Amino acid sequence: MSKAELMDRIAGEVTVCVKCSLWHGRRNAVPGQGDIEASVVFVGEAPGYWEDAKGLPFLGAAGKVLDKLLENIGLLREEVFITNIVKCRPPSNREPRSLEIATCTELYLNSQIALIHPKIIVTLGRTSTAYILSRAGLVNVESITSLHGRIFDVKFITLAVEVFPTFHPASVLHNPTYRDKLKSDFQILKAALQNRQII
Ligand code: URA
Ligand code: SF4
Repeated sequence: MSKAELMDRIAGEVTVCVKCSLWHGRRNAVPGQGDIEASVVFVGEAPGYWEDAKGLPFLGAAGKVLDKLLENIGLLREEVFITNIVKCRPPSNREPRSLEIATCTELYLNSQIALIHPKIIVTLGRTSTAYILSRAGLVNVESITSLHGRIFDVKFITLAVEVFPTFHPASVLHNPTYRDKLKSDFQILKAALQNRQII
């Protein structure tokens, strides 16, 4: 099977998945979107209202913030791959629980990342950062504030990758000061991508 066929197969399994309780409340599961040959994968937390309505990641207000951040560093959504830790919307947008995260990532996210084999995984927010870095063997990854804007060279599953934690784009909607923090992290990301001749 080709890489594209394998990715489609994962997406197909996600859309009918009933492996954790989050399937009860969903309208559409959200497998992820973008270029499967991308060097950069963005990982958010979970679908929200609009993502659940349409089956695509980062469509709502947080998605607009993400699009702008990408545009600022000359990247198009189509040039990267964007997905989430869990693929179904938690009730009332609560945080996904550890069992939901463990179940969903083992089934889908880990395989998606293994298949794409990006050079850099950008983790958006605390849930995503904590999952990716702890799965890569780093401990004490509770505080995004002390981790953001730096590159971590890790082994994730069997892959050598770099992880770049930053804030969740939705943080801007609750506190506008995060816009500048995100913008400056994305400038650091841009320089790292340029250094690696990814852009
Ligand atoms: N927030 C996320 O973490 N992911 C989305 O897809 C949308 C909002
Ligand atoms: Fe399946 Fe993940 Fe949805 Fe849970 S969140 S039902 S594991 S796709």
